[in-house]
Amino acid sequence: MEPAGQRNDTIALSRNALAGLVNAIKLDGFAVFGPTVRDGAIVYDHLDSLEDLPIGVTDKLAPGHYRLAPREDHALFGHHVGPHSLRREFLIPVATLFRARRTPQGFAQIEEPPPARKLALFGVRPCDLAAVAIQDRVLLNDAYRDTDYAARRHGVLVIAANCTQAGGTCFCASMNTGPEARAGFDLALTELDDDTIVCTIGSDVGRALVQRVEHVPASDQLLERARLLLNDAATHMGRTMDPHGLRDLLATTLEHPRWDDIASRCLGCANCTLSCPTCFCTSMEDMTSLDGTEASRLRRWDSCFTVAFSYVHGGAVRPSLKARYRQWLTHKLGSWHDQFGSSGCVGCGRCITWCPVGIDLTEEITALRQPGGS
Ligand code: SF4
Ligand code: SF4
Repeated sequence: MEPAGQRNDTIALSRNALAGLVNAIKLDGFAVFGPTVRDGAIVYDHLDSLEDLPIGVTDKLAPGHYRLAPREDHALFGHHVGPHSLRREFLIPVATLFRARRTPQGFAQIEEPPPARKLALFGVRPCDLAAVAIQDRVLLNDAYRDTDYAARRHGVLVIAANCTQAGGTCFCASMNTGPEARAGFDLALTELDDDTIVCTIGSDVGRALVQRVEHVPASDQLLERARLLLNDAATHMGRTMDPHGLRDLLATTLEHPRWDDIASRCLGCANCTLSCPTCFCTSMEDMTSLDGTEASRLRRWDSCFTVAFSYVHGGAVRPSLKARYRQWLTHKLGSWHDQFGSSGCVGCGRCITWCPVGIDLTEEITALRQPGGS
């Protein structure tokens, strides 16, 4: 994505023009991925046209609760985040790192070129964009560059959708990642009503793209409507969390009785880590074909909630649920700052929604701020 420098123009589009934009992207050879209804949830999947978006559908989010519901209007983006994040597209759940075939001389590596695809992400939420920026810092840094991730990230076109309403478990406003996308997009859309979309141009690629569809400069009145909607979303977040001092709080409350309380509720299912858009724990697995002629090394998503993940010689370093939950939260909100220079949480709320027993990290942080820690 080419940055557009200081030019941050805004235009207004009709829904028809937006449909034309999707067609233009497809004509350029991109596969378009965006939110769509599948299996009772809104997930990121392939979009053939604007009609594949969750039109007139919303999602009700609460701790341990996710249900789709009809809307009274025909909004394209009248929903929040579902169980999938963009992690599935870039740090894929199972990746082959290496394959080799036995030869008379020993073995030969089977060359597997990185995936050649042109990917356009359409309707990406600001929290998910912020999560991609975090994963980029982790996986694209010079010392430990993940080549598979880098190949999948390269050249991705991003059309963001700002959030004009907040879900019951959202707290992006607390984490300063939403409800408006500020960086990392080619275009960012704010849907005002069923036929009016304000579009912020974020790159020269995005600028060239909108030239191919009918549009007008966004009037002051439309910009004010967009601002009011985004302000309203920011002030009606389902959750809030004070991010200040979390690193020190978590470093000094390791023996707080709240960890035992959480452990008594946590099932250790790992849903929180698998739905989190910034988690990146993986494990390696070596496989050999039954006839012994081929071998491969796979990288799979893993989770700090499994006992095996911290297994070293002689046993697991974190054998209790208390230790594993504490590891997750203290890393995500605390020591992540030391490693990567930011929080590891973007406030998407997925770990709250998809926790089967509704454990809510914003509540846990509030409890940890109460006296009782060491
Ligand atoms: S910790 Fe929870 S709220 Fe934060 S980014 Fe991960 S899933 Fe979202
Ligand atoms: S906090 Fe919830 S989602 Fe995470 S491991 Fe425990 S029970 Fe599962």
